[in-house]
Order: sequence, then C-alpha cells, then structure tokens
Amino acid sequence: MARVVVVGAGVIGLNTALALEEAGHDVQVIAAAKGANTTSAAAGAIWYPFKVGPPDLVSKWAGATLRWLVDLANKHPEAGVDVLARSELSDNPSPPWWANATPGVRRVDASPTKPLPNGAAYSWVFDAPRCDPLVFLAWLEHRLKNPVRIERIDSLTPLCQSADFVINCCGLGARSLTGDADLQAIYGQTVIVSPGRIDLKQCLGDERDEARMFYSIPRRSEVVVGGCAEPCADDRPTTTTRAMTDAILSRAAGMGLEPGPVLRESAGLRPYRPTVRLEPDAADSRILHNYGHGGAGYTLCRGCAEAIVALIA
Ligand SMILES: Cc1cc2nc3c(=O)[nH]c(=O)nc-3n(C[C@H](O)[C@H](O)[C@H](O)COP(=O)(O)OP(=O)(O)OC[C@H]3O[C@@H](n4cnc5c(N)ncnc54)[C@H](O)[C@@H]3O)c2cc1C
Repeated sequence: MARVVVVGAGVIGLNTALALEEAGHDVQVIAAAKGANTTSAAAGAIWYPFKVGPPDLVSKWAGATLRWLVDLANKHPEAGVDVLARSELSDNPSPPWWANATPGVRRVDASPTKPLPNGAAYSWVFDAPRCDPLVFLAWLEHRLKNPVRIERIDSLTPLCQSADFVINCCGLGARSLTGDADLQAIYGQTVIVSPGRIDLKQCLGDERDEARMFYSIPRRSEVVVGGCAEPCADDRPTTTTRAMTDAILSRAAGMGLEPGPVLRESAGLRPYRPTVRLEPDAADSRILHNYGHGGAGYTLCRGCAEAIVALIA
C-alpha cells in the first residue's frame, strides 16, 4: 500500500483518487476548489471524445470509461449517470476515429422520407453515458475515505515529503505547476434549458462546422445545449455572453428542437493538450501527471485513473 496525494478535485482527480483507494492505497485529495467551482462542473458531461488526443490512447481510456460508466448507471443510480441514445451527425460515410471505443455504434443514412437534422447525410448512433456533474462529483467525493482538503499548492515537490506518490490532476492549473507550454485553454459556453419538447433520452451532436458546433445533452430534469470551442488565454473570465446564448438557441431551433425556457447559462475553460499528459515526471518519478483531457474529461476519467493505478503498482 502506498501513501498517495492527489492534487485536484475535478472529475479527473476524484476518479483517480477513487481508483487508487479501490486498489488498496491510502489517498488524500488536496484541491484549491471542488464541486461547482471546478471546470468539471461546467461540462455537458456526456461520453464523447472531443478536443483530445492521441487517438490510440484516447480510444483505450475512453473504452474503459464507457464500460465503467454504463455499469455505474445500472448499479448506482444515485451517482447521477444515465445512458442516453447519442446521435452524432456526419457527412462522412466512414466510421469516426472513436468508433472502435464505442460498441454497437451504427450508421443511420438520411433519406427523402427520413431526413436528418441540419441537412446531415449520416448519423452515428450509439449508447452514451451522461453524468450530471454536481451529482457525480459529490458521489465520487463521498466514496473517498478522507475528506478533500481545500488548499492551493504552489509546488508539487514538497508534497513528496509526506507521500510515496503525488498525482497532478490540476487540469488547466497544471500549467503554473509544471510550466507546460502545450496546455491550452479552450472556452466553452452552454445554456441550460427546461426540457420543453426535447426527448430526455436522446442526445444530439453536430461538430461538422466547429464555428457552429451544437450539442443537446439532456439531464434528468433539464437539458444542456451548446456550445463553442474558442482557444483563449488561461485567465479568460468564464462569463457568458448573450450573443452566444442566442446563437446556441438559434442552432437548437435549426435542429428542430423545441426547448423550454432558459434556466441559466454556464461557461468553462477546457484544459486542452494535443496529447493527454499521463506519465511520471522526468525529474522526479514520485510525481505522476494526469491532466490535459480537453473536452473529454468525463469520457476518459476512469480509463486514465486505472492507467495511473497501473503506473504505481
Ligand atoms: C462547456 C464545456 C462542456 C464540456 N462537455 C464535456 C462533455 O460533454 N464530456 C466530457 O467528457 N467533457 C466535457 N468537458 C470537458 C471537461 O469538463 C474537462 O475535460 C474536465 O472537467 C477536466 O477535469 P479536470 O479534473 O482535469 O479539471 P478541473 O475540473 O479543472 O479540476 C482541476 C482541479 O485541480 C485543482 N487545482 C488546480 N490548480 C491547483 C493548485 N495549484 N493547487 C491545488 N489545486 C489545484 C482545482 O481546484 C480543481 O479541483 C466540457 C468542458 C466545458 C468547458
């Protein structure tokens, strides 16, 4: 059994901590913020590999996470995870790069009698687990033996004095701790609406034109519609704009969706890196990094947590 400090209480840190505890380690999570004050709280939070790499490892981690989340949805409804039917619009007849992580994915072709939304030629349909972020994060935290300690860390190395391993799960915060120039903030905004006439079992995505990307992700009693993906500085405020809200609602109408009234708006900065950083630190192998999950933290959370467990076994 190792003594492990996990820095970060977003979806990556909490999953890493839980998987380490399940493997028999003694774990303490330390984080500057938790729950609603993390990027993880701003997510749509459905299983879908968006703005993340590299494809081979992402497929592996995403596949493991998909299986774990589906099992969780069946066994622990209180975790806030449900399996929805996702329909991803496409104009490409070939399977998308993430298809081999997605059992049962099938192509639906548009036809004159059954056109697809927004003029799409095809739709890739599969079962996708969706998390309700605040419910899921709280559920993960309550499974841990030790409460999360709220504290901002300026350096990872001193933590090694009281732990065998330190796991860096700081999302975008990893840049100031590591100086990682490959980490890039990507702004995203969503609008949370009451369901109106939207089917709560159906999720729709269209990223064919990134400037007009769209997704509709139902929760149990509301629907998240989005979005955008704008590279930006780390300190861009996570405020929302009326113009983006109007654009998202107009895209929803263009998809044939009829949402109810707007409940609130939300925004966050995705911690994007061309490749997720999951490795021991080159200078100190007691420090392991697990950050840079871009638009796919929920999609990769358990697979990456299991990869960290394997590294310290
Ligand atoms: C609008 C939007 C929609 C999204 N939709 C989806 C989706 O549908 N599916 C999906 O899979 N992903 C989605 N994402 C991406 C997902 O939210 C992120 O990949 C994920 O939240 C990253 O999790 P994280 O734990 O690495 O980071 P965070 O949630 O940012 O957590 C980082 C943690 O580290 C702590 N920390 C940082 N610096 C320090 C420090 N110096 N000292 C101590 N603690 C520190 C923070 O306080 C926090 O606890 C979306 C993101 C956005 C913005």
